[in-house]
Amino acid sequence: MKSRARRVAALLGLLAVACPPPSAAIPPKSALKPFIHTRTEWRAESAKRIPLDEAKNRIVVHHTANIVTGAVKAIATNKASWKAAVAHVHQAQDLHKRVRGWSDVGYHYMIDWKGRIFQGRPVDRLGAHTEGNNRGSIGVVLLGDFSRQRPPLEQVASLKTLLRWLTAVHGISPENIQGHHQYKSTLCPGKSLDDPQDPRSPLRAIQAQLIIEGLAAPRAGWK
Ligand SMILES: [Zn+2]
Repeated sequence: MKSRARRVAALLGLLAVACPPPSAAIPPKSALKPFIHTRTEWRAESAKRIPLDEAKNRIVVHHTANIVTGAVKAIATNKASWKAAVAHVHQAQDLHKRVRGWSDVGYHYMIDWKGRIFQGRPVDRLGAHTEGNNRGSIGVVLLGDFSRQRPPLEQVASLKTLLRWLTAVHGISPENIQGHHQYKSTLCPGKSLDDPQDPRSPLRAIQAQLIIEGLAAPRAGWK
């Protein structure tokens, strides 16, 4: 009996390898979620009331157009580097709240040169980043000026991770990832990040990869 029990156990083991559960084929959406620093962590100023805008159908990518110097990027200690990033994020919030008189920083997510992601206004709220086209639109900004500098690899990698998660969670087609310049005459988010004429530019390459991933593993069952 003992050897029969062993044979059954071995067979079950083989079956488990041959027929993995469906969840092994398509990872849960939560597995794609990148680490996002909360508003409390970066000590965001409180926001005024912002209207709900829950159904998102596209993502618009921006840059802050504030140069991040080589010296700032080279800061070696985590604490000092974090402090510089938080200062840059506050600069964006100040510009939108104090200078423009908006309720809060206009973007939903902000990514620094080390690839750290900061929560902007809550994603279920109406953004303020693409005039006339904010409804249904998630605003993502990268800290830096990519008409004058190149985005670091860590920042681009983090953008890809964030966009992969956002497209999955909100059921957004990767075709609907856009640069701000597609809506108005602006350099934003800079040709070093998004050059429609160059498929190798970082945002276009990310978009192409997410389209291919979507074809390889349809996400219809995720909704
Ligand atoms: Zn912009």
